[in-house]
Amino acid sequence: MPSVADILIPLALDNAYSYAVPAGMILAPGDVVQVPLGPRETVGVVWQVTESAGGSNLRPVTGRIEAPPLSDPLRELVDWLARYTLAPKGSALAMALRLPDEAARTETSRVGVRGSGKPPSRPTPARMKVLAVAEDGAMRGKSALAKEAGVSLSVVDGLIDDGALEAVALAPEPVALPPDPDHERVPLSEAQGEAARHLIGLAFPSGSGKAPTILLEGVTGSGKTEVYFEAVAECVRRGRQALILMPEIALTAQFLDRFAERFGTRPATWHSGIGARRRERLRAGVAAGEVAVVVGARSALFLPFRALGLVVVDEEHEAAYKQEDGVHYHARDMAVVRGKLENCPVVLASATPSIETKVNAERHRYSHIVLPERFGGRRLPDIHAIDMRRDKPEKGRFIAPPLVNAVRATIESGDQALLFLNRRGYAPLTLCRACGHRYQCRNCSTWLVEHRFRKALVCHQCGYTERRPEACTECGTFDNLTPCGPGVERIAEEVAELFPDKRVVVLSSDFPGGAERLRAELQSVADGECDIVIGTQLVAKGHNFPHLTLVGVLDADIGLTSGDPRAAERTFQLLQQVTGRAGRGEKPGRALVQTYQPDHPVIAALLSGDATRFYEEEIAGREAANLPPFGRLAALIVSANDRETAEAHGQALARAADPPDGVMVLGPAEAPLALIRGRYRFRLLVKTDRAVDLQSYLRDWLKRGPKVRGNVKVAIDVDPQSFL
Ligand code: ADP
Ligand code: ZN
Repeated sequence: MPSVADILIPLALDNAYSYAVPAGMILAPGDVVQVPLGPRETVGVVWQVTESAGGSNLRPVTGRIEAPPLSDPLRELVDWLARYTLAPKGSALAMALRLPDEAARTETSRVGVRGSGKPPSRPTPARMKVLAVAEDGAMRGKSALAKEAGVSLSVVDGLIDDGALEAVALAPEPVALPPDPDHERVPLSEAQGEAARHLIGLAFPSGSGKAPTILLEGVTGSGKTEVYFEAVAECVRRGRQALILMPEIALTAQFLDRFAERFGTRPATWHSGIGARRRERLRAGVAAGEVAVVVGARSALFLPFRALGLVVVDEEHEAAYKQEDGVHYHARDMAVVRGKLENCPVVLASATPSIETKVNAERHRYSHIVLPERFGGRRLPDIHAIDMRRDKPEKGRFIAPPLVNAVRATIESGDQALLFLNRRGYAPLTLCRACGHRYQCRNCSTWLVEHRFRKALVCHQCGYTERRPEACTECGTFDNLTPCGPGVERIAEEVAELFPDKRVVVLSSDFPGGAERLRAELQSVADGECDIVIGTQLVAKGHNFPHLTLVGVLDADIGLTSGDPRAAERTFQLLQQVTGRAGRGEKPGRALVQTYQPDHPVIAALLSGDATRFYEEEIAGREAANLPPFGRLAALIVSANDRETAEAHGQALARAADPPDGVMVLGPAEAPLALIRGRYRFRLLVKTDRAVDLQSYLRDWLKRGPKVRGNVKVAIDVDPQSFL
């Protein structure tokens, strides 16, 4: 009997399409194939194969594609993801397939050059310099050779054309060398050793059974990384693969080095910045089981592991794990799902776990391992508030006198100070003192942020940039534009006035020169090559600066006023992380926190160091308000090219909501960011009891609701993290 294959195509389609399997072709679920779609050929994945007599009118599968097949658990993950997020199944598949796209940077093949022994036709001085270097016969990269000879690349190219140098294609660098689980173990502290044994015992039990999810909670500097490395080592010893997810992969050079110290080689890395060819080789290596450990950003979760034995989600509380466009998914939650489907243990590591994870641990859905103290007997920093109502900064300044004095004392004793402000640029708002005009983005409802070094006003939402005008564009008055409020650049100006001759560095995502230079700069900070660091959240996370003994938080209140139900949690986590940068080396650290509301529960918890109480109160508050994880949330974001259309569609949706018991639908309300990239936005929020089948309700509602027409878009965000 002929077979019919249901093929899922990685486009925004909800269902698999049926194709005839040509005689002689044998297909199994998971195979990657080429199929006709309309007038084109496209790639798809076999979802199901059935014997059927009625398939004669179907178009046939064109052929098979050389690509690793998608395993059962991976296809189940795709189904799960689509069902949970309400994304089209094809869009969910696209994440697991990730075929090389043209847009991706392709890697140039590696070429080495060496002298051919033939003399050059024209012996110019520059050419002779190159040949002198190449005389030793060693193989060098073209640019390395040019650099060593102190000439431009074109001289080297000329010599290759001339035949005096020969170019040889080099074998591609292996995607990763095998990590050695027994390479070198630093002696663990007693607490670490016990935690590691406990972790391995839970993750790799002697009997069979359901693999657990484990919360590894340890204060900043407790040495969690070394502990979960032991679990990774055990996983590798058992011949299985480990995946370590990280929130900001581009900046983890320090982490990769630590991995290399422990395992003798750097791990394979996976993130959006790697070239298409390398990506394919890595996928193939992962599918063949040759790559033992991958460190990656959230999309690494969809790699075709052959024998996944452990997933670690480092800094599990990080909001960066939530993808906010396309398929709205949370990589931490999907990691737990993948662990279930593969029956492999999942470790969630954090100093400041999310409320969701904390509740899961308390209710024994997750196991829980705690490292309550810093490694090596180091103390957590003492944290004090500076009450900005009493200790005001001088007029036009932002650093209060007690903090100025503390910075002075710190750098005088040869240590480093970090001033933390989570605002990029010079000033978050610019206005004209003559007419009051405020500079706003023309595509978004945001203020333009002044970037003084670039002499520009920039929208942080869409990137729109204009030159900072000399005269007000509204009233024409010259030299009357005033910056309002501080960004890190403005703090740098103040610090330069207060501490001339000191070495100051500003670290934010605007750092010129890209990730590579930023990494170098972070390293030089760690090496003690600057006195004062001024930084955004970029410096708050994960880095180890051994010479840093003082952290000053310039505005602890920034995050507390938003309408976000996670505002308190987010602020607590961020402040805990940033103050936790202090005193990680030999000397103890301290933190000073500028605030107008020292009695606010979040600030009070931070000052007292009583994280337990903070979590207790926050969890009780969530439970009382029926907020996650006790109730469930979903957001619908309606957008259109004009305000009326977006609002009308939102209202029509609300009229069709018809919420049953246990479901509440709020809105439509104009989104706080009412305009982004020229699109007007309205939000609806769905709140349900935990027992409600949220996805079924949403699906039925959207089916009943108004048809999406013209330029209207409705984005569905289950478990929203952002409310903007
Ligand atoms: P966490 O992730 O819990 O904040 P880390 O794992 O980054 O902590 O460890 C904090 C610091 O202590 C790092 O500088 C690390 O190199 C050091 N450290 C941790 N464990 C050990 C150990 N067993 N021996 C030596 N140094 C350690
Ligand atoms: Zn904009």
